[in-house]
Amino acid sequence: PAPEHLLEFRNIRIVYDNAIEAIRDVSIAVPEGGIVALLGSNGAGKSTLLKAMSGILYTEEGVVESGTISFRNEEVHRLAPDELVRRGIVQVPEGRRVFPALTIDENLQMGGYTKTAAEARDRRETVFALFPRLFERRDQVAGYMSGGEQQMLAIGRALMTDPVLLALDEPSLGLAPLIIDRIYEVIARLRDEMKMTVLLVEQNAQRALDIADYGYILETGRVVLDGTAKKLAANEDVQEFYLGVS
Ligand code: ATP
Repeated sequence: PAPEHLLEFRNIRIVYDNAIEAIRDVSIAVPEGGIVALLGSNGAGKSTLLKAMSGILYTEEGVVESGTISFRNEEVHRLAPDELVRRGIVQVPEGRRVFPALTIDENLQMGGYTKTAAEARDRRETVFALFPRLFERRDQVAGYMSGGEQQMLAIGRALMTDPVLLALDEPSLGLAPLIIDRIYEVIARLRDEMKMTVLLVEQNAQRALDIADYGYILETGRVVLDGTAKKLAANEDVQEFYLGVS
C-alpha cells in the first residue's frame, strides 16, 4: 500500500536505565510535506522521542521496549544513526552543538559528509541562500558566533545532508524574538519551497502552532491531545497551560 505518512511512531514505549519510563505508549504520524509540532513542558519526553528516531538513544542508555518507528513504510528504529541520515532522517539537536573550533564553512563541510563533493557544493549554496548571514561569516570560527547564528549554522549543517525529514529540537531556545522570527521564516521556506517535512519540538507553543499544520501535546510520556494546529491553538486547556492565555 502507498505510505500514508512519511514517519510513524506506533505504540512506542521507551525506558531509561534508571527505570524511568520516559515514553509510555505514544503514536505519532508525520505526513509528507507538513510541519508537525511536538509540544510539552520540560521532561515530557520530546527529546527522547527524537533521539529514538535518530538512532542515538542507545548511547544514552535508553531502550525502545516496544512499538515501532517506520519511515517510508520501513521499520527504522534499529538502524544506526548514519544509516538514518542516508535515508533522509536528520536532526538538529537541542543546544545547537556546532563544532566551536571550526569555521562556519568547515562545519558545513562536516555536515555534508554523506555527499559527493559536487553535491556538497550544491547544498552549501542552498544553505547560504537561506542564511546569507552564514555566507558573510563563512570563514569565522563558530564558537564566537551569537546563539542565533549558531542555531542557523546547526540548521544549515543538517541541510547539507539534503534531508527528507528534518527534526528540530527547540530551535527557539534562548534566542531573542527577532532572531526566532528569522529562524521560523526559514523553517516555513523549507516546507513551502523545498517540500521538506519538519518535525518541530518546542516549548514555545505559540511559535510552533503559528507555523505547524498539526500538533501533539505530550505530558509525562503520553500524548494527551492532538489536532490541527488551528484547533490546538483554540483549545482552552492549551491556551491556559501552553500559550499563557488566561
Ligand atoms: P526537555 O525539554 O527538558 O528536553 P523533554 O520533553 O525533551 O524535555 P526528555 O528529555 O525526553 O523530555 O525526558 C523525558 C524523561 O526521561 C524525563 O523524566 C527525564 O528525566 C528522563 N531522561 C531523559 N534523558 C535521560 C537519560 N539519559 N537517562 C535517564 N533518564 C533520562
